[in-house]
Amino acid sequence: MSLDIPYVRTPGPDGRDITGQVDFSQVPRFAGPGTFAGLPRLSDVGESAAGVIGIPFDSGVTYRPGARFGPEGIRSASHLIRPHHVELDSFPFAKHQVADVGNLAVTPFGIEHAIDAMVSGLTAARERAGKLVILGGDHTVAYPSIKTLFDKHGPISVLHFDAHIDTFGTYFGASTHHGTPFRRAAEEGLLDPEGCMHIGIRGSLYDHQDLSDDRALGFQTVHASEFLTTGLHGIADQMRARLGDRPVYVSVDIDVLDPAFAPGTGTPEPGGLSSRELLFLIRSLAPLNVVGADVVEVAPSYDHANVTSLAAAHVAYEFLSIWGL
Ligand code: MN
Ligand code: MN
Repeated sequence: MSLDIPYVRTPGPDGRDITGQVDFSQVPRFAGPGTFAGLPRLSDVGESAAGVIGIPFDSGVTYRPGARFGPEGIRSASHLIRPHHVELDSFPFAKHQVADVGNLAVTPFGIEHAIDAMVSGLTAARERAGKLVILGGDHTVAYPSIKTLFDKHGPISVLHFDAHIDTFGTYFGASTHHGTPFRRAAEEGLLDPEGCMHIGIRGSLYDHQDLSDDRALGFQTVHASEFLTTGLHGIADQMRARLGDRPVYVSVDIDVLDPAFAPGTGTPEPGGLSSRELLFLIRSLAPLNVVGADVVEVAPSYDHANVTSLAAAHVAYEFLSIWGL
């Protein structure tokens, strides 16, 4: 047998082949190269139009650690993903080149040093790999990600799926941690205050001041309980109205899902979304100008039967699929 990995290849519009997933008719899905959905590594294809990149960093957590193992958990759970997206009726890995960029190696000691490394790493990765879905890591990674997108697009709209607002203040003397990425980005003028939105917020707070500070930074909020009153289609309409044609960064903290769907995370909060609701809302962003995305806070040690990693893998697949229409 050949030791070369057989990939599915499709002729591209410029005459060069697009390298898709491993040919699962020749390689069982559990026996592939270990990349996201069996896609080629960026180093195998040179450059891509879209990709996934892991940031195994969790030194910004305030409660349960373990999201540094998120990228390997998500990749492992992604091998079930097949090439045809049924609801979108598309083949996202045959439309343009998609690659797995691998992981950014950043220090676990010193958040500011790690952020500098993420900024330079993500800048370089976006030049070669195009639009990226970041596999976290804790939610700190959204801040350097938005910073690099601001350099290219100017003020960014943030669509933020989370149980928590993540515009909190300094904690134990640290101004940068997984509860502050959007406060830092807003204070530095990186965000478009007319186009930012939280979805799925719930749970207890220290003080109601947290919510008024958040509104002052420009965030509109859809609470998890509004899924019962406004309903899914109404919320999708609100999202599209708020975001318009702005450049949007979509940040998905997997704890936006109910712990029934995502127990493997650092700060679980009951009363959240189902996987079906989250995937539907991401799919409904297809006509919008989504310039980057992340899925963060997957901590496999607390997971059961990989359900959290599986949900996160499908979140990433939805982003790659709307970019591949
Ligand atoms: Mn959260
Ligand atoms: Mn978060």
